[in-house]
Amino acid sequence: MLPVQCAMCRSDKIIPTATIHEMEKRYERLMVTVYTNPKAVFAKGGVDTWVTCAICGECGHIMLYAEDPQALWQAYQAQQKG
Ligand SMILES: [Zn+2]
Repeated sequence: MLPVQCAMCRSDKIIPTATIHEMEKRYERLMVTVYTNPKAVFAKGGVDTWVTCAICGECGHIMLYAEDPQALWQAYQAQQKG
């Protein structure tokens, strides 16, 4: 769910389609990962999802979102049971 208002300045000038990346890697998007078994040497069971970036067109505040938070939450729950 993307924001309709800036969390910092309350402006509604939100740019929801920005991509955050390294300078030389314009076409490589960022991902976030939660490991179901982070202490394992192998088979850590990483669950990945893309990072979506929204920027305030007024103050420049950057808001980052995981595209599939439910998958990350499930991985985190599995991590707590391990
Ligand atoms: Zn703002």
